[in-house]
Amino acid sequence: MASEIEKGTKYIPEMTQSEIDDLNKSMKTSSLKVIEDNIEKMKKSWKDRPQVMEYFDEISNLFGKRQEEIKQQKATGKKVIGYSCIFAPIEMILAADAIPVRVGSGWYDSAKLGDRIMPVEVCPVIRSTVGAKMVNLSPFLELSDAIVMPLTCDGRTKLSEMLADHKPIWRMNPPRVKDDPHTLSMWKQEIMVIKEKIEKLTGNKIDRKNLKTAIEKMQQATKAFRRLQELRKGNPVINGRDAMLVNQTSLWDDIERWTQKVNELCDELEKRLEQKEYSTYPDTPRVMLTGTPMIWPDSWKVPNLIEESNPQGVVVVDEQCSGDRILYDPVGVDEWTMSDMIDAIGERYLMACTCPCFTSEHGNEDRINWIIDRIKEYKVDGVIYYVVRGCILYAMEYQRIKNVLDKMNIPVYYLDTEYTREDVGQMKTRVEAFLEMLEARMDI
Ligand code: SF4
Ligand code: SF4
Repeated sequence: MASEIEKGTKYIPEMTQSEIDDLNKSMKTSSLKVIEDNIEKMKKSWKDRPQVMEYFDEISNLFGKRQEEIKQQKATGKKVIGYSCIFAPIEMILAADAIPVRVGSGWYDSAKLGDRIMPVEVCPVIRSTVGAKMVNLSPFLELSDAIVMPLTCDGRTKLSEMLADHKPIWRMNPPRVKDDPHTLSMWKQEIMVIKEKIEKLTGNKIDRKNLKTAIEKMQQATKAFRRLQELRKGNPVINGRDAMLVNQTSLWDDIERWTQKVNELCDELEKRLEQKEYSTYPDTPRVMLTGTPMIWPDSWKVPNLIEESNPQGVVVVDEQCSGDRILYDPVGVDEWTMSDMIDAIGERYLMACTCPCFTSEHGNEDRINWIIDRIKEYKVDGVIYYVVRGCILYAMEYQRIKNVLDKMNIPVYYLDTEYTREDVGQMKTRVEAFLEMLEARMDI
């Protein structure tokens, strides 16, 4: 039955065009300044930054080169498919010759705008995304012809309704229990529904040949990604923020070009490793980040604090879907038949994911095991558990993770924050105290 509620009257309020334009202009200006400042800070902390990092700096400008490229490709008839979270099957989007872009919102200013229609208790990632839509701030969201939105938490479920007034939203229902016998088949049906939608939007059939090419493309990206992460296991040859920036640009860059640039970066870093040229002192406390995704550019406040603190830390690894989880797992195909490839995509996007939206008979064990393994591999001295207020899933899993880390004698610090720059001073004191403690432990 058709809704009696008219489109446009559900959530997002009417605003005058001049108010939209003014807010868009001021938020864009402030975002460009944050991007510039973050890059300057990274350059300052790592004096001998490899030249190829300039490529990633350029791509990190959300309003720059990549936006222009996508606009031009769109003008030739290509479709742009946005996605809000790492459950979206990127290989299928690529196979249909469409452009995948992640549309998560890392703007603090737009979260304030989202407060007009949502209470502040709601997760700021959601408030920020809606606020960005209210003033057309997000270039990739605006360019998207449709958005794949996995309904992983309450915030994302309602966000899908809020954005549906403006864009076609393709909802996906990831099962919350991974290990039930019927789970995988349910999830594969979700993947098949998305496949049909992609084919209808683009007019391109996803077949064995183009899907195989797309999977191989992403496998190459994963290989380069893993090569970079491997380099972070030893003495630091790259600072955490720089690695995080490289990882995150994969979410909107052309993936083949990104892969090539990551390999160039790794060539340079491998040489430096041989020559013992480090990005920071080898005895710098090694920090792991876990928790809520840290979305570029505003959410760089935590890694900035860690790597500029006195004593300083270095982020060597993270367990975040905005970082080391993005490309860690390849789609593993045995036989290159259509059904085998689709099965492999289904398994990769569900079983390898450590999002806190999952549970099982033994809780979210995959996440716990992922954290334990990385702590050992990356010789982590301490963990910062980052949570934006309103993200219930990460907040609730904290105690379980803390109990495990206590047993391993690995210090963990719960760093909760809002989407604001105003608490940086107070957070600096907290981060410094944690790093002082890590340094003191290392001296014993
Ligand atoms: S934390 Fe989970 S739900 Fe949130 S964006 Fe990441 S994968 Fe998606
Ligand atoms: S940060 Fe937490 S509450 Fe917010 S969208 Fe992600 S999983 Fe949901």
